[in-house]
Amino acid sequence: MENGACQNTTQTSYECDICKDAEFIIEERDTTIILADGTTNPIKQDVAVPCSCRDKKQIKRLMKSSRITDAFREMTFSNFDTANRPAVIQQMYAVAYKYTKELPNLIKNKARYNSCCLLGQPGVGKSHLLTAVSNNLLAKGIAVQYFPWVEGINDLQSDFEAAKQKVSYMQQVSVLFIDDLFKGRDKPTPWQLEQIFGIINYRYLNNLPILISSEKTIAQMCEFDEATGSRIIEMCKNYKVTIERDLNLNYRLLGTE
Ligand SMILES: [Zn+2]
Repeated sequence: MENGACQNTTQTSYECDICKDAEFIIEERDTTIILADGTTNPIKQDVAVPCSCRDKKQIKRLMKSSRITDAFREMTFSNFDTANRPAVIQQMYAVAYKYTKELPNLIKNKARYNSCCLLGQPGVGKSHLLTAVSNNLLAKGIAVQYFPWVEGINDLQSDFEAAKQKVSYMQQVSVLFIDDLFKGRDKPTPWQLEQIFGIINYRYLNNLPILISSEKTIAQMCEFDEATGSRIIEMCKNYKVTIERDLNLNYRLLGTE
């Protein structure tokens, strides 16, 4: 030891000492086997059971794969300020809050009207609220994929081969959050519209929820692509708030946040 010949005794540290990060522990269970002659024989058998750390780690993994950044993880319902804000913003908060409570059941029941969209006026906290919804779901172990429209669509366009796999994941993930859908001065390109339709339509057909924030109204979305817009209206039927354009509502301009 003194001459360093035995350096590999360095203790590895584990996040969980119970399972040494295997997330399963082996337990010995009593069981009975039936022998060929019909007699029974009690034996001990090793069984792998999930460790108590597994759920927490699953949530951590979901957080990581959701692409929600650290800054966005801080966005909750409790730090969304509704005091002295206009009634429409309080209503938007109430809809998002109610949706968060009801969504796990909507998912379980494969409900048709399972999606939520907050639309219209920029700078009123639409993204904050839908991020709060997402963070709540992740904490419950429900997978969410965050897709900020501008960065996300550019990323898809940068590699058409890789895009197929990414689109397929966005079609199938438990919950998809599209932030700032159709943001930009230009009209979405036919390729972009084709991608978004492929995603929304798959989720529509399979009753999989979407969260959408957008400065566009449903009418503007339908102008880009009626098939996509009409599916969004139907999916978000019970949880949809559109805030009319009103510069006085923009907290970024008012500098109150
Ligand atoms: Zn463990």
